[in-house]
Amino acid sequence: MSRPLIGEPLALELVNTQWMHHGRLVDLFDEPGGVESWIAETGLPGVPDAREPLIVARAALRAALGGDEQPLNDVLDRGARRPQLRDGLPVEELVLDSPEWLPAWVAAADLVRLRAERAERIRKCANPDCVLWFYDISKNGRRRWCSMDACGNRAKTDRYQQRHRTT
Ligand SMILES: [Zn+2]
Repeated sequence: MSRPLIGEPLALELVNTQWMHHGRLVDLFDEPGGVESWIAETGLPGVPDAREPLIVARAALRAALGGDEQPLNDVLDRGARRPQLRDGLPVEELVLDSPEWLPAWVAAADLVRLRAERAERIRKCANPDCVLWFYDISKNGRRRWCSMDACGNRAKTDRYQQRHRTT
């Protein structure tokens, strides 16, 4: 089953590995190879045993988006970025408690970056039946749907049908 909505920032891409399909919550990470294909898509280095940390980080991201920041901070406590100089050039080293946390930590830290940039542009799809999140980079900042195809058009159709039912 193909995953909707590729191309959001990393933190939201992780949140969006769960989505609704015909009224049922689908999890990419329940599918064989789902974790590996997600990591490959994101361009993060593949590490063994990344699945459990990713599931913890995903739940922590959802909690943070809902206002409970502690689980996310607990994930972030597992690593740090360390600036270094090499041959006169700046590099940033990621220091982690254990290597399987790499993709999860980087995705969790990405939400902090988004909050620092344009917190108000981090939004949940306006369709109440949809669980996807997006980062609105449109000029006017009025994006409401995860995608026009999936949720935007459906909302339009619903409004149309309601109008024609009541008149
Ligand atoms: Zn949606």
